[in-house]
Amino acid sequence: MNKEPIAIIAAQEGELQYLISLLQSKKEKSYGRYIAYEGEIEGYPVIILFTCVGIINAAVATTLLLNNKKVKCVINQGTAGAHKDYLNINDIVIGKECININTYKTKKIEYGMRPEEWEIINFLSGTKDKQIVYKADESLVQIADTIKNEYGTKIIGRLGSGDVWNQEKDRIKWISKVCNTLCEDMESVSIYTICNDMNIPVIGIRIISNNELKNLEFEKSTEINCQKFVYEMIKKIINQGQIKI
Ligand code: SAH
Repeated sequence: MNKEPIAIIAAQEGELQYLISLLQSKKEKSYGRYIAYEGEIEGYPVIILFTCVGIINAAVATTLLLNNKKVKCVINQGTAGAHKDYLNINDIVIGKECININTYKTKKIEYGMRPEEWEIINFLSGTKDKQIVYKADESLVQIADTIKNEYGTKIIGRLGSGDVWNQEKDRIKWISKVCNTLCEDMESVSIYTICNDMNIPVIGIRIISNNELKNLEFEKSTEINCQKFVYEMIKKIINQGQIKI
């Protein structure tokens, strides 16, 4: 088995601390203004990258890391807001796909605003604009699917991502319908885009920390629960050398 490191990427300190505490022979390394913690988990090299919040931070930090290090795969993990009323705090979404929910073309109108008529679309140079769906690595999705979420249910589907925290119930339902999303966060789409472009196996694991549709406020303990799930994933990836990632 090749021993290229597994990269774990997260945006907030609380979303990394538990995994950092598991790192043996820990070293800190800077990538631009971003910090990565490099070491071993269960004797296997792991890099934990702290991107800070948002699409731009996640894109820059991920690019700097991946330009400097050859990694086996990328696991992006952290909290998310639910886009479905059946999702509860601590449920985990395995991001088989990911889409940018904050890229719009508005209608041409003289007065007023009609956000429900905005088209969610990716802008492309030199060719027709279209909605782009980014993909997770199939083997990583399969591995994630074998792991039990000790704190809630587990569902495979599409992550929505963008620099936006939606709190309007009708808007959340509308985005979920138009984009077929299960939840929203502020980093996944950068990480999927870059990894898809660079041909690096990627997956996003997002835990529901809030659900506006059910008036469930942000629950901080979800951050560590997500990392416990990812820790089980890391062990599986290490032990399943035969799975081609
Ligand atoms: N520091 C702020 C929140 C930061 S932004 C605070 O705690 O008050 C939210 C972070 O959590 C982002 O990294 C994003 O990926 C994730 N997140 C959790 N719930 C979200 C939601 N409903 N919408 C968008 N991002 C969400």
